[in-house]
Amino acid sequence: MEQKKGLVIKSTGSLYLLRIEGEGEVFAKIGGRLRVKNIRNTNPVAVGDIVLTEKREDYALIIRVLARKNYIIRKATNLSKENHILAANIDQALLLITLKHPATSTLFIDRFLTSAEAYRIPVILIFNKIDLLSQEETQELENLMEIYRKIGYSCYATSAQSQTGVHFIKELLKNKVSVVAGLSGVGKSTLINAIDSRWSLKTGEISAAHQSGKHTTTFAEMFELNSGGYIIDTPGVRGFGLVDISKSELGHYFKEIFLFSQQCKYNNCYHVHEPNCAVREAVAIGKISQSRYENYLKLFLDEDTKHR
Ligand code: GDP
Ligand code: ZN
Repeated sequence: MEQKKGLVIKSTGSLYLLRIEGEGEVFAKIGGRLRVKNIRNTNPVAVGDIVLTEKREDYALIIRVLARKNYIIRKATNLSKENHILAANIDQALLLITLKHPATSTLFIDRFLTSAEAYRIPVILIFNKIDLLSQEETQELENLMEIYRKIGYSCYATSAQSQTGVHFIKELLKNKVSVVAGLSGVGKSTLINAIDSRWSLKTGEISAAHQSGKHTTTFAEMFELNSGGYIIDTPGVRGFGLVDISKSELGHYFKEIFLFSQQCKYNNCYHVHEPNCAVREAVAIGKISQSRYENYLKLFLDEDTKHR
């Protein structure tokens, strides 16, 4: 039987919406064998998955999920070993940051970057609401962008409200699968809406459904941009949740710390108080930023970061 590839653009738990080349949007169900093979995951198929399908009477049957290049998971519950896959095959995450209204802490930024590195998802930093900044605060912003650019992260400054810099973001999103993350109120909806006005219809739909109290569960969904590309929109991915990172791994996910750690005397150096630590030496001479190192220590001492 002929098999066709599809992209999962919406998941409602038992029914899926696929985009199949040459056929457009098609509803799909999953085959029994696929369910049995995936007992560790509450959902064997996630938004962003590329799947193989066979045609049935009035739907498509998903028979296989192709290898994922990355995915974001959430533990179903604290105790269970089951995972819930929130989204798969993400090309990039755009992290929206505001210096004020609300203030995004560098700890929040660095925690997000750590998780994204662990998930192998490239991150682009977008500093929004620049219209609100004084001259002094603008200088502060420049310094912050310099810290992250030096590590290798692309940084953009925008004002979604006055549409400053928005066309650069539109270009970044083109033909990519992206996640837009950041604290509540930083301007995620405003920015996406400035790029594609159909977004406001979609968010309007969601809040109307919330008010009537119908949809208590929110399902993962991909939003197709007019200009090409998709934005994955699920509540869980906006903050990324916590990734299970151990103390010995943490330094791998701070790119610049990882680089300098190659020269530490001990190869199991935690860069806290060990002698001849190349990381602490780099901090002392300003090659690693103070705030990045302090946040590394905070995350290292965080009780969620396990000894393993
Ligand atoms: P979200 O929670 O991240 O989706 O944030 P929203 O897009 O809902 O924006 C929160 C508030 O910030 C709204 O009142 C927006 O009008 C406002 N806002 C968004 N972008 C900007 C901006 O660039 N400058 C200013 N001054 N306000 C903005
Ligand atoms: Zn060290």
